Amino acid sequence: MSLASRLYRLQTTEFQLRDKRRALKEIAARLNTNPELSAAEEALVSIESRLEAARKNQRKLEWEVEDLNAKIKGLNDKLYGGSVRNPKELVSLQQDVQSITRHLSGKEEKLIEAMDISESIEAEVEAARQKVSTLKAAWEDERPGLQRLKDSTEAEVFQLAETQQDLRDKLGSDKAQHYDLLAKAKGVAVVKVEQGRCKGCNLTVPDGLYQRARAGDMVECASCGRLLYVE
Ligand SMILES: [Zn+2]
Repeated sequence: MSLASRLYRLQTTEFQLRDKRRALKEIAARLNTNPELSAAEEALVSIESRLEAARKNQRKLEWEVEDLNAKIKGLNDKLYGGSVRNPKELVSLQQDVQSITRHLSGKEEKLIEAMDISESIEAEVEAARQKVSTLKAAWEDERPGLQRLKDSTEAEVFQLAETQQDLRDKLGSDKAQHYDLLAKAKGVAVVKVEQGRCKGCNLTVPDGLYQRARAGDMVECASCGRLLYVE
């Protein structure tokens, strides 16, 4: 392998390596975390706590209604039981029954509202649960494929890193360093020469340089400084 093609291959290998490592990171993140599912789970927890509060309120109203009914029953028993005969007392008992009955009907209305609220939150909980389980199932379906992709990408990264090391060893540290400086400064260190032009700057490569590049030497473009590679 000529020097120029070794350099070009190193660059290709390093670009692939960079892409594969990036992909690997994304795959690993996708395997470990599912932001959409986490958000759905959080939403479910919050709706469930709203439901709990609504049910608590409903129970409280149920007890109050029960309590008021018991009070009315007690008063009615007194009223019609025959133990109270004093007319004033009877009137007062009747007034108590009326007042508590009014209070009761207000509470009953509130109870109905509370039941409606609980019911609608129950529907929300059901929908949120459904969403969580759908997302979970989709993720579970996706995971084996992701795991395989992760394994194969890891193997590719390993291979590419070996190739990279091998190419660098064969280049030697001086040339590798030169390549690294160029790569750092220009992003792309090695460019092809096509139809006599440097693909880095699009200027014509002088014949002498072109011949050397074609022979596989390590040659820099006279205008942009990139290393030239003739296929
Ligand atoms: Zn150039």
